[in-house]
Amino acid sequence: MTLRRANIARIDGGLFDVLVVGAGINGAVSAASLAGRGASVALIDRGDFGGFTSQESSNLVWGGFKYLENYELPLVFGLSRSRNRLMKAYPDNIKEISFLATLDRTAPYRPWFAAVGAAAYWGIGLFGTHRPHVFGVEQLEEVEPVINTSTARGAVQYQDAYLVDNDSRFVFSFVRSAIEAGAAVANYVELVSAERVGDRWVCRLRDTDSGEEVTTSARVVVNAVGPFVDELNSSWGLQTRHRIVYSKGIHLVVPRLTTTRHDRVLAFFDDTQRLFYVIPMGQRSVIGTTDTRIETPFTHVTDEDREFLLGQINARLDLPRPLTADDVIAERSGVRPLVVRAGGGDHEDADWTSLSRRHEIERDTDRGVVTVFGGKLTDCLNVGEEVADHVQALGIPLEKDLRNWYGEPAKATRKEFYRQARLMRLDALRTRPEVEPLSDRLWRRYGRRAFDLLEMVRADPTMGQDVMGSTDYLRAELYTAAEQEMVVTLDDFMRRRSKIDLVVSDRDILDSPGLREVAEILFGADAEARLAAYVESKGRTSVDNP
Ligand SMILES: Cc1cc2nc3c(=O)[nH]c(=O)nc-3n(C[C@H](O)[C@H](O)[C@H](O)COP(=O)(O)OP(=O)(O)OC[C@H]3O[C@@H](n4cnc5c(N)ncnc54)[C@H](O)[C@@H]3O)c2cc1C
Repeated sequence: MTLRRANIARIDGGLFDVLVVGAGINGAVSAASLAGRGASVALIDRGDFGGFTSQESSNLVWGGFKYLENYELPLVFGLSRSRNRLMKAYPDNIKEISFLATLDRTAPYRPWFAAVGAAAYWGIGLFGTHRPHVFGVEQLEEVEPVINTSTARGAVQYQDAYLVDNDSRFVFSFVRSAIEAGAAVANYVELVSAERVGDRWVCRLRDTDSGEEVTTSARVVVNAVGPFVDELNSSWGLQTRHRIVYSKGIHLVVPRLTTTRHDRVLAFFDDTQRLFYVIPMGQRSVIGTTDTRIETPFTHVTDEDREFLLGQINARLDLPRPLTADDVIAERSGVRPLVVRAGGGDHEDADWTSLSRRHEIERDTDRGVVTVFGGKLTDCLNVGEEVADHVQALGIPLEKDLRNWYGEPAKATRKEFYRQARLMRLDALRTRPEVEPLSDRLWRRYGRRAFDLLEMVRADPTMGQDVMGSTDYLRAELYTAAEQEMVVTLDDFMRRRSKIDLVVSDRDILDSPGLREVAEILFGADAEARLAAYVESKGRTSVDNP
């Protein structure tokens, strides 16, 4: 039986302290913190883990320098603290990075003023990063020659952090933490309806992969369905003080634009005076994002969105030739769930981009519901802790918070992993010198589970081979994903457990001779059907007949 089937069987007919609905970042951290403190927890998502908003982020872990424009000091202070905690807890997954903001003649601030802001930001962040710097135009040319400095007045460099892998992989780390603490977790399971009966919720769930229906019960429900929280609450007739509005943001992934060997985020003001970024992702650059008011959570990148971003970046970089739509390797689009007061029309006339990015958590004591409104990946530890406080206030006893439900393993464990990897010459298996050492990647992505990967490679050297050529995934990683990572569709692996789909073009993926083997390892007897569904989602009929 697969891990997922086993978990659905546990959920069916079970009685849990807490049912967490939605496994984006907010649901995943809630489940990890509650299960880590001894509650019996079920976590479900109607799609894949981190498969909706949480896979569309800029991958930045930041205090929000730009929110200083709206004088949101408490928000910036809270996010900066959270960033510092995350950097400390995840030294290999979350790295400090420089943001180089170019200020040209049309920018709303002069370099000296931005420098004062950067110094204040550093202070609000409790000096948790390296210090900011101001650059004149000549220095700017030197540090990042790709920037078009013809109209630049100077630049300011401040520090924040980023996720070295991708957002949904980060979400998955909390899902694994919840699983390891005993939670019953399943993706592709939807909450169809829920009814309060006495002291508990009786919930009807549907496996969206097989169509099978199951029921389960829980004393408390955590509503963490992100952009859909209001819909779910109103289906139960629940009144809340807050609600969600949507702001759409897109990203374009293109071949690496920055020329230096250092990873650095470039920041620019676009023509609407809004900051946008060029963010490094290995051999790629991610350009984004936009901030557009929208009425639906379901979005895609339109021609207009794409042209806008490409136009903005072409005007600000000195490229050998302008970027066009043909250079775009992958696109992403999502909505930020922004929290506003219910009933208050105060946001209607507000500048949309100035709406706060804070989160709110509400508790309904009579019905036993905790709702998470808004929030950011950066805020995740706070959300996990606050949800646990609310659940405790609803009468579910929790163990003391030892803060061991998040973070990378201890330094001594890391040291031992690197020792074993060195002794078996793991990094010599790497076939392409431009990609990072295998030991770094395995440790970062799997933590303690990376020891099992070493064992697999020691037992069978073919496990150390790269299956898809250009994608850098070992056969051992695929077997691990099949067994421990609840991969239901090929897209779950390509886009969320790995970031292959973000950095390799569809054509290269579909033409890879290893793709069929990937499907066979992940899905066994279901391989052909899963492969066909993936290929069809990419607009092809077969991998063999382009
Ligand atoms: C363009 C963009 C850029 C961003 N950049 C950053 C950034 O750089 N840094 C940062 O910190 N934050 C960033 N954010 C914000 C951050 O990504 C989001 O706030 C966060 O991912 C929201 O997570 P969530 O768990 O609330 O929602 P989601 O990730 O949407 O999760 C909700 C889940 O609920 C599930 N669901 C819905 N209904 C049901 C049901 N009935 N039954 C079961 N499951 C259900 C959905 O399938 C979904 O997976 C960005 C957001 C956007 C859109």
